[in-house]
Amino acid sequence: MTKIWKVQPDASSAHPFLAEAGAMIAEGDTVAFPTETVYGLGADAGNTKAVEAIFTAKGRPSDNPLIVHIAHIGQLNGLVEEINPISRRLMDAFWPGPLTLVLPVRSGAVSPRVTAGLTTVAVRMPDHPIALSLIRAAGCPVAAPSANRSGRPSPTVAAHVYGDLDGRIGGIVDGGATGVGLESTVVVVEAREGSIRVLRPGGVTVADLRRAVPGAEIVVETTAEEAEAPRSPGMKYAHYAPQGRLTIVHGDKERAVSWARDSLAEAKRTGERTGVMTVAEHTGLYEADLVIGCGSAGDMNAVAQQLYAALRRFDEAGITYILAEGYESSEGIGLAVMNRLNKAAGHRVVRV
Ligand code: AMP
Ligand code: MG
Repeated sequence: MTKIWKVQPDASSAHPFLAEAGAMIAEGDTVAFPTETVYGLGADAGNTKAVEAIFTAKGRPSDNPLIVHIAHIGQLNGLVEEINPISRRLMDAFWPGPLTLVLPVRSGAVSPRVTAGLTTVAVRMPDHPIALSLIRAAGCPVAAPSANRSGRPSPTVAAHVYGDLDGRIGGIVDGGATGVGLESTVVVVEAREGSIRVLRPGGVTVADLRRAVPGAEIVVETTAEEAEAPRSPGMKYAHYAPQGRLTIVHGDKERAVSWARDSLAEAKRTGERTGVMTVAEHTGLYEADLVIGCGSAGDMNAVAQQLYAALRRFDEAGITYILAEGYESSEGIGLAVMNRLNKAAGHRVVRV
């Protein structure tokens, strides 16, 4: 049986529910909790059995390493070897926050299952009072991937976690909806070259990074197709796929809408249940079994926040054929939105 604790988002580590949930992690169990990005599924990063329970519950491939979450900078020293000056600057600028840094792991500091045998470990300090309090209550660095079954969209509310993992994990701390709605930005700093490689775009944008470290070269490695040997092992897996066949439609608005309307009508004729993912302003332009207005045209942050819940709704409605409006976006949060949407679509894209 999975325990559920409902906690106000600003609860302190003295909260009895967080003390109980923290003790469960310290004893080797798995607990899901909200962060400012998505819900994470946490376990003691030093306990191999506990970390294995994460992989089993999620059905996650064992060569996909986990991010270790810390609550204060003192926990970092035990985890990693030297920290180069650019990495230090990024921590100062963005922690707590949605930025994960890949750093050389201190031997024996975490279970080898956390790093999937790599010589590096990914670390971040989440910007959410419940996450920070829970990590403090557990008293150890907490390894935590997103709290979804592997291949499903990441959870942005506790009900998503419950739907995917009830009976497979020890507990869920329900602290309401998460903030950013997409996973953290993952970066590695090439200290000798003074460059920052973005292994996964997220809530901290390229523009944010540039502002924090002016002059540093910033290289974006977003997809397995672009990086021959992905530096971030997780990037090679199909992710977030809805059960229906999702295609992204790019192009001039009028042409794209007209193409989409024809394509939806044709799909309907062949017995498909049809769906459209668009923004609130455009929902009236389409006819389909389910049209979702995900965020608003002028507000990519809202699109990010609602994206995963929208993908889950298509599954709940049994939609088999889905079209999503594509966004041209190379820098801001839109880059992370398109990265996740492209993966959800298995890179099925039409340009009209
Ligand atoms: P998730 O926890 O599901 O958000 O996924 C964690 C992401 O961080 C995956 O894309 C991993 O491949 C990546 N990651 C974790 N540890 C490392 C590491 N040591 N080096 C590179 N990427 C990593
Ligand atoms: Mg994940």
